[in-house]
Amino acid sequence: MGARSAIRLYNTMTRRKEELRPLEAGRMRIYSCGPTVYRFAHIGNLRTYMFADVLTRSLEYLGHDTHQVMNITDVGHLTDDTFDRGEDKMLVSARLEKKSPEEIAAYYTEAFMHDARMVNIQPAREYPRATAYIPQMIEIIAKLIEGGHAYEVGGTVYYDIASFPAYGRLSRNSTDQLLSGTRGEVDPRKRHPGDFTLWKAAGEHRLQVWPSPWGPGFPGWHIECSAMSISLLGDRFDIHTGGSDNVFPHHEAEIAQSEGVTGHQVVSCWVHGEHLMLSGTRMAKSAGNFFRITELVEQGFDPLAFRYLTLQAKYRTKLNFSPEAMSGADHALRQLRDRVSEWSAAPDGPRGELDQRFRAALADDLDLPAAMALVSELIRSDLAPGAKARLLIEWDRVLGLDVARSPEREALPDGAAVLLSSRERARAAKDFATADRLRSELAAMGVSVTDTPDGQKVVVRRS
Ligand SMILES: [Zn+2]
Repeated sequence: MGARSAIRLYNTMTRRKEELRPLEAGRMRIYSCGPTVYRFAHIGNLRTYMFADVLTRSLEYLGHDTHQVMNITDVGHLTDDTFDRGEDKMLVSARLEKKSPEEIAAYYTEAFMHDARMVNIQPAREYPRATAYIPQMIEIIAKLIEGGHAYEVGGTVYYDIASFPAYGRLSRNSTDQLLSGTRGEVDPRKRHPGDFTLWKAAGEHRLQVWPSPWGPGFPGWHIECSAMSISLLGDRFDIHTGGSDNVFPHHEAEIAQSEGVTGHQVVSCWVHGEHLMLSGTRMAKSAGNFFRITELVEQGFDPLAFRYLTLQAKYRTKLNFSPEAMSGADHALRQLRDRVSEWSAAPDGPRGELDQRFRAALADDLDLPAAMALVSELIRSDLAPGAKARLLIEWDRVLGLDVARSPEREALPDGAAVLLSSRERARAAKDFATADRLRSELAAMGVSVTDTPDGQKVVVRRS
């Protein structure tokens, strides 16, 4: 223990697994694209954040310190990257909910933090808000204009993709493909239809507007991440994470901006998590096929069963979500906790080579399915029960499944016991509407209830 082990990660830029050498000895600097806070995060989004969480947990388990920054996008970027069409989502939310953009952002930021806690995502070191980095964005945009990478037309500033020959390298997009990716009408003032917006002149009726050298306006989405990553992690850092949908245009644009302004490579390794699928389609807000983690809890699942489910697939493969898979994961997780609780009082013993193999699985591009297979192998092994329990608790630093949580020892929050007994009575009286309402009330308190032939089964969420 204590020794630092190397880790290999699949770098989207080079399309191969590479051994990661920290720029600063013993400390990995990580930037993770975070939530846009004009809506709830769904479990597909959570899968991406959990992958970044497992990455930092694994690095720490392997002996590295980490410094992770996750941005909060609290300025509403438009649905269409070209900014030519599409609605500003933050403003749509503000209009629909009759709240100010600041109130909307505060509300959904809190909801995101809450959902992240439910699936045991360890907090990032810093959560910068885009609206707090407008001067830094303006500074980068001004430098890009100065360096011939950007141009202004009528108060709007575009990035000139022809000035950056490496544009398209991350996503393997040729200029033709980039062109075919642009939708709708293109601003005729653009030099190239693929040029993207750095700063947009304010139109009428806008709520979020800042002064700039090009007149009042607001920043594009991509420039936020260049400004926040460089400001907080420096102009060279180790790892950048995001979902596979961020590769183009978001990260392609970030590279053009960050390298355009610094003149050198900024990110050593780009790592992307794959989507969560529902019946063969990507779970997305726009497709309308999504769940919040709180909805799974209302259905009686332990939120960490969703975490268990995601650990069974490699982060680089699509994962299919289904209620059956959730039930299986929920059952397996409860069994695992029962085992740990049964074994933890037993004396410790030799642990064999399983931990070495667990570390090797993590170091091999975060092979969590292999790590989970070792959990099963450990349970079946002939190690002393006390050693099994201790090793599982140790591994839980990475897995984050609360394996040491014992159902009997969980204290109910204030008022939950009364609701539980009312619900028991409602069920006995076949008043299922009341029983359902009480289940939702309990879920809001962090108590999830499942009905079994033996009565209500209760799980309390640690908060
Ligand atoms: Zn980003």
